[in-house]
Amino acid sequence: MNIVWFKKDLRLRDHDPLAEAIALGKPVLLLYCFEPSLIAAEDTSTRHFRFAYECLVDMRTALAKEGQEIHIVCGEVLDILSSINEFYSIANLFSYEEVGTKLTFDRDRNVKKWCLEKEIAFKSFAQNGTVRGKKNRADWQAQLEAGYFSYPVTKVDLSKLVNLKIGAELKSIFDKEPIPTEFQESKTGFQKGGESYAWKYYKSFLQKRVWNYSRHISKPELSRKSCSRLSPYLAFGCISAKAVMQYAFAQSKKTGEEWNFSNFKSRIWWRSHYIQKLETDWQIESQPINRAFNELDRAVGGKLFEAWANGKTGYPMVDACMKCLEETGWINFRMRGMLVTFASYALWLDWRQLATHLAKLFLDYDPGIHYPQIQMQAGLSGYHTLRIFNPMAQVEKHDSEGVFIKRWLPELIDVPPSHLIEPWKMTQMEQTFYNCKIGEDYPSPIVDYGLATSENKDRYWATRQSLEAKKNLPSIWEKYCVPSDAEKYKLQLKLKD
Ligand SMILES: Cc1cc2nc3c(=O)[nH]c(=O)nc-3n(C[C@H](O)[C@H](O)[C@H](O)COP(=O)(O)OP(=O)(O)OC[C@H]3O[C@@H](n4cnc5c(N)ncnc54)[C@H](O)[C@@H]3O)c2cc1C
Repeated sequence: MNIVWFKKDLRLRDHDPLAEAIALGKPVLLLYCFEPSLIAAEDTSTRHFRFAYECLVDMRTALAKEGQEIHIVCGEVLDILSSINEFYSIANLFSYEEVGTKLTFDRDRNVKKWCLEKEIAFKSFAQNGTVRGKKNRADWQAQLEAGYFSYPVTKVDLSKLVNLKIGAELKSIFDKEPIPTEFQESKTGFQKGGESYAWKYYKSFLQKRVWNYSRHISKPELSRKSCSRLSPYLAFGCISAKAVMQYAFAQSKKTGEEWNFSNFKSRIWWRSHYIQKLETDWQIESQPINRAFNELDRAVGGKLFEAWANGKTGYPMVDACMKCLEETGWINFRMRGMLVTFASYALWLDWRQLATHLAKLFLDYDPGIHYPQIQMQAGLSGYHTLRIFNPMAQVEKHDSEGVFIKRWLPELIDVPPSHLIEPWKMTQMEQTFYNCKIGEDYPSPIVDYGLATSENKDRYWATRQSLEAKKNLPSIWEKYCVPSDAEKYKLQLKLKD
């Protein structure tokens, strides 16, 4: 018998391992494991497993229509595979490569080793156009564009799937550990998991929402409708990046619309580009891209971190974003950048704790995008343009009526929009009149933003301009940048020196 092991690929369309397993014409068992080690990991939270469970229910419903089933089990994958192998002889194990944290990387390596010992063929497929173990970007772009994004979508014929009906003993092993009830309870405010939802979101984006994509992408409230909102579906593999890219091309051609589609397609491209960074260097989960920044001695924990993490900084846009994340698991790119730059420069906090806290909150948490993005916003590559998103300017430019802020901070509901930029500047009389006492109903600012950011920027630049940081750049560019960008950066450095 053969197994298709599902991980971050929770779909039935355009699924290479599934298509290959079906093509063998032999019995196949479809398996997903809720693994206690991943549930206990510091970067995951219930919302991720609830989303995965919803995806699995969606798959189960689609499979049932074909008289097929997927086994959803609670347990470490190696234990489950060993149990299966006691009852049946496993010939092939099919799965996708996962570009994740060290925990999932080690797990996959152990599975591979175990398969080798048991003489089981472990057939692992690349996803997202990433290349396993690649240490630089030579030829990478061509394989992504002319390869992955251009290949036809893989057809999966479920009617040809020979499903393995398992015996009672194995079933009792599968059922031994119940799936935690909190994973099975849906929660309002969050996007619902599943391949069918992914396509619903995508169709409505392609047909209508895309028209405001570029105009609204930076606005915390309007972006909720005008961005594709595909991120959790891509992160959990409910839809493939290849299919997304190809439909965007087709729709752009059909409608003649270029600006919005081209901005959207760039981001699908970036996605693979970022994921490849983590694939190239798994250590960037815990080490700065430019190791010279290990010197920065940004703070760990403490009152400033608590205030940031709990949305109590006294800066309305920062606090509203944090509350919104708690309740919905999603905010737009610019506001994610603002949360990280505020914590990195105004509060001088270490990036690792920010990464973990946000990973738990982001429904779309994808280590391959997350760690490189956090590092970029915290300035840890040492070559990206430093862009610090001022939280007051974000209110002025992107939420001038205060719609987003008031939605998430009801204590500011009566405060006029002009005071939402710097509420601490309201007079005592205004505070009484607008039912918001600063320091009581809403916090006083935890730091003086202008002063703290300016001082900390100087500290940051001292390291960035150090010989050590500059010396590391050429090897960083070779590893993480496509060759044309690497050349551009090299030239810039030469001109500056
Ligand atoms: C600090 C920080 C952490 C982030 N962590 C994550 C994360 O864990 N998971 C995640 O999916 N995105 C992450 N992003 C990127 C981005 O904010 C989200 O992908 C985007 O907001 C998701 O909304 P959307 O699906 O509507 O995006 P759209 O704008 O509609 O884009 C479509 C898809 O392109 C990809 N994408 C979009 N922007 C980027 C980007 N800047 N870099 C790489 N890929 C991108 C995503 O897969 C997204 O779903 C992070 C950004 C920052 C600044």
